[in-house]
Amino acid sequence: MDAFWTGPDFDDHELVQLVRDPVSGLTAIIALHSTHLGPGAGGTRFWRYAAPGDAMRDALRLSRGMSYKNAMAGLPVGGGKAVILADAARTKSPALLAAFGDAVEALGGRYITAEDVGVNEADMVAIAARTAHVTGLPASDGASAGGDPGPFTAMGVYLGIKAAVGWALGRESMKGVHVAVQGSGSVGGGVARLLARDGAKLTLADIDAHRADALARDLGAETVSANAIMDVACDVFSPNALGAILDDAGIARLQAPIVAGAANNQLARAGHGPALAARSVLYAPDYVINAGGIISVTLEYLARQSGGHCEVAEVHRRLAEIPERLTRIWDAARCSGLSPDAVADAMAQKLIGR
Ligand code: NAD
Repeated sequence: MDAFWTGPDFDDHELVQLVRDPVSGLTAIIALHSTHLGPGAGGTRFWRYAAPGDAMRDALRLSRGMSYKNAMAGLPVGGGKAVILADAARTKSPALLAAFGDAVEALGGRYITAEDVGVNEADMVAIAARTAHVTGLPASDGASAGGDPGPFTAMGVYLGIKAAVGWALGRESMKGVHVAVQGSGSVGGGVARLLARDGAKLTLADIDAHRADALARDLGAETVSANAIMDVACDVFSPNALGAILDDAGIARLQAPIVAGAANNQLARAGHGPALAARSVLYAPDYVINAGGIISVTLEYLARQSGGHCEVAEVHRRLAEIPERLTRIWDAARCSGLSPDAVADAMAQKLIGR
């Protein structure tokens, strides 16, 4: 087997650490891609991977994505990510979280962790018992930033969808704009609720059909099966479930002029950005549109480090910059003939000195 640092997902990551704790059963990978702008910040994912190589790939790709995301969001932090390899029983015990917290602490603040898929606010509280380098902790009051980043990510995606609809379709209002939302979880559900308030027409899907059905009943939306959501003829396809959905087959199926959603690493390969542009599909680079959560947890962390707290209003002020940032990328793509993902990558690489 080739070493991971000779593979396509390794991008001169500064540190890739395997953490093992036989007593609690913890196996984790912590990857720091770049600390050029500050300590590497990014969530911890708890997932049952089919093979250890998949976990390594996830850690490498997601930590690089965090470098780009944090730089583009104007945050004074670099990019990092952790994955915990769940066992067959998916056990997330207090001892396992404590061992993971010790591993974060041992990095002395080079890595700051938060929630990601499979890890919640209560887990963050457990990890915080062992390290100060953790964020996404419950807010002390309604006016302070803190807690689950999902709603902030949803707000940023909603603002980004509205910007895309204005830029590509020339429509000022979301009333009657048809959005197909893949995934009805924390972010997809939040995006759907915000769009419903504006009178958008919604088609929802989730592999957990009950979840999509319940949300659809609440919002007066339609549902289709998880397999059919990419075939829906609509104005916006919003992926809020899995990564790598935009591959050759996925792009061929799309019947939407806009792709804008929260899922990380939507493009299966870099070449799929130009493939979308060739089909005249406007793409909102994932790490730009989905930065709302990291903006919230980073501002929360930085405020706590200096003994204060961050107002939610300040998070919303920073979220409001997401549409302008996307518009700059789309304008530059139109001028240069490059695809929006390539424009965003070049901007992010410059910011992190690569
Ligand atoms: P979540 O677990 O709350 O929701 C994901 C939903 O997608 C679940 O309901 C799941 O059943 C569904 N799903 C899984 N596979 C599916 C499929 N093939 N088709 C349809 N539905 C499917 O997760 P989330 O926090 O809402 O995150 C959604 C995506 O956004 C993830 O890719 C995540 O990495 C990304 N993201 C989340 C945040 C955040 O703040 N939560 C920030 C940035 C990026």
